[in-house]
Amino acid sequence: MIDPSAISVRASHTLREAMRIIDQGAIGIALLIDEAGALSRTVTDGDLRRQLLEGCTLDDLVESLDPKTPLTLPEAASLRECLNLMTTEGVDCIPLVDPKGAPTRIVVRSELDSRILLSTPHMGEDELSFVKQAFDTNWIAPLGPNVDEFERELAAKVGIGHAAATSSGTAGIHLALKLLDVGPGDRVFCSTLTFAASANPIVYLGAEPVFIDCDETSWNLCPIALQRAFEASARAGKLPKAVIVVSLYGQSADMDPILEICERYRVAVIEDAAESLGATYKGKASGTLGRLGIYSFNGNKIITTSGGGMIISDDKELIDRAKFLATQAREPEQHYEHREIGYNYRMSNILAGVGRGQLRVLDERVRQRRAIFERYRNELEDLPEIDWMPEPEWSVGTRWLTACTLATGHEGRRRLIEGLADEMIEARPVWKPMHLQPVFAGTEIFCAGNERISDRLFNAGVCLPSGSSLTEMDIQRTIHSIRKILR
Ligand SMILES: *Cc1c(COP(=O)(O)O)cnc(C)c1O
Repeated sequence: MIDPSAISVRASHTLREAMRIIDQGAIGIALLIDEAGALSRTVTDGDLRRQLLEGCTLDDLVESLDPKTPLTLPEAASLRECLNLMTTEGVDCIPLVDPKGAPTRIVVRSELDSRILLSTPHMGEDELSFVKQAFDTNWIAPLGPNVDEFERELAAKVGIGHAAATSSGTAGIHLALKLLDVGPGDRVFCSTLTFAASANPIVYLGAEPVFIDCDETSWNLCPIALQRAFEASARAGKLPKAVIVVSLYGQSADMDPILEICERYRVAVIEDAAESLGATYKGKASGTLGRLGIYSFNGNKIITTSGGGMIISDDKELIDRAKFLATQAREPEQHYEHREIGYNYRMSNILAGVGRGQLRVLDERVRQRRAIFERYRNELEDLPEIDWMPEPEWSVGTRWLTACTLATGHEGRRRLIEGLADEMIEARPVWKPMHLQPVFAGTEIFCAGNERISDRLFNAGVCLPSGSSLTEMDIQRTIHSIRKILR
């Protein structure tokens, strides 16, 4: 941001001094400030040139310039209003002024070009060398040494026995359900507060989802609601084949009570840890606690291969079978032999190279995202309207996205997201629960009590820009804008 005082001139300055200030200021203008501190006009290179052509010298004073009403906006104006004025007037910067006319900020067009996004890819230093290796050895196919190494390195990192790299996290969930033999007519329990990719694969297999509400302490699957769902299903004689437990926004669900309930009913757990790679639950890596776990390396996730996923388990047979199903279920024969239907779900050797580089910076990305969350929480502490997504004592999350709720509910959510959009800053509502999605209309949903916690979180919840590549300027601009909107 440009400090107005750094480009201010007085009527008593010489034209030479004004020219020097313009030269040093880098945006091609100076601000002429009057005795009372108000902006009386802007001075450009062109203004000075014309003055010299009229016969003035560089030793004449700035007061020799003709008066000219400056183009300004009030300090509360949004970036969008600034952009509109720049476009209609054909200028590249607009001073914002306080009620007394004193400039408080200069908005420059280049600032507006840098839209602040929710979560963008952030490459490290090694990705290209792994990709180059793939090129140099012509391993451009799906599978290859980078895939094997990426699987091995990721498994070691999270402390699990086996991993299979997939073309996406969604493919991983599809395979996980398939490995647990989910098929037509089966029921699968699934967290309702999540992205549709958690639940869609249930339907791919002709099975029926049953949604489970979240709790307030973790925003993830509620053990009490899960227990109620199991009791109702046991009574109806239709237990689920699997339970998909989602860990949202970089935080694990409360796995101990969840696993205990599922073990009691002998139903396997799939952890959808697409958003929680790098998080821990009681010291263990999120994703490693169920029978199977999946991660996603989509472009918006904490580390990315542009698109990709991983399915993990301590059960070698399951992961071997995942690899078999993901490569068209091709039998180990000399010819092409198929005894069942397979999928083309493996990761390419090039993308696995990107993943290997990204894995090396995972810890740093976790630190960076957590630090961004701390900035928001500390610097907006005095705004009672904001409540942050809690972090229970058993959780160390990644704050993949900084999420909060607004005390003013849906109206507050709308105002904040629209207000930030006017400042060229992307913010999003919390995931719309699956039971509210038209495509899943009529699907059963189980809650702990009478209230659906997920409805409340959706109504009042906002995700803020959280990417590890945000600059100090981006963070300051976002915090400043949130203050302006909520004040
Ligand atoms: C991103 C995501 C997925 C899907 O992962 P893809 O790699 O995009 O297929 C699944 N579940 C959740 C909760 C996600 O956020």
